Amino acid sequence: MTHGTPFFIQLRREIAQRGGIFNAHLHLDRSGTLEETQALIGDEGMSHLSLTKKHGLIPLIHASDVYDVSSLGRRVGYFLDLMEQAGTTRADTLVDVTADRVGLTALQKFLELKHERRDRFDLRLGAYTPMGFMDAEPERWEVFAEGARLGDFIASLPERDDQALYPDCIGFAENCRRMLRLSHELGKPAHIHVDQKNDPAEDHTEIVIGLIDELGRGGSRLDQDPPRPRRGRGRQRARTARLSEPIRSGKAPGSDQSYPYRSKSRA
Ligand SMILES: [Zn+2]
Repeated sequence: MTHGTPFFIQLRREIAQRGGIFNAHLHLDRSGTLEETQALIGDEGMSHLSLTKKHGLIPLIHASDVYDVSSLGRRVGYFLDLMEQAGTTRADTLVDVTADRVGLTALQKFLELKHERRDRFDLRLGAYTPMGFMDAEPERWEVFAEGARLGDFIASLPERDDQALYPDCIGFAENCRRMLRLSHELGKPAHIHVDQKNDPAEDHTEIVIGLIDELGRGGSRLDQDPPRPRRGRGRQRARTARLSEPIRSGKAPGSDQSYPYRSKSRA
């Protein structure tokens, strides 16, 4: 396929007139690490890995050379250059902030890259951990919360805390509660990964909506697990009915601060 055709020429012009390409969800700290990841996996192959095995790879990748700060800076700089050449003007990327050797080092490197390009490229950073939280290891939360204060948004992977898979972790719903509270406290948007198994029975989106609803009603019920919505038509009605007044109004209860979560249909 050639990109020099009249269609692509016009497409590029139209995109540029509208301010350029916005890439809204990236994991740029993993860019350019496929070779090292495949070497860690061996013959098994990426596409056959279970979710838990994929989660288990992260500490090994963090321990490898690719997360050395100089190597990270080179990798990410290369891909940022490519994105700029393609007409991207804004990119929102998650950055691992974890209680292993990575700590805040990757985020600090990204803050440098953001500063260097600030006149021509809007790079927004979200503190993220794909390694879960454990009450027995409070430093996991502490380093993440510190990263959240440095970044532009926060991001979470609640299934990595699901106690069905990881009994020592804080739980799916508790991960969401902590993220929503921190997002609200800092006034920063949140990216929450949900329903990633391509399984039609998954209802993580509905659980998160339920938690947002409960937070919007004052937060007293956030200490309980949210009820599961019904299936079928009733499920749709339940989803609509659970959008409470405080969220529609865009205000957190008892606060003058704008509430950062809204239903897409009402945004
Ligand atoms: Zn993601």
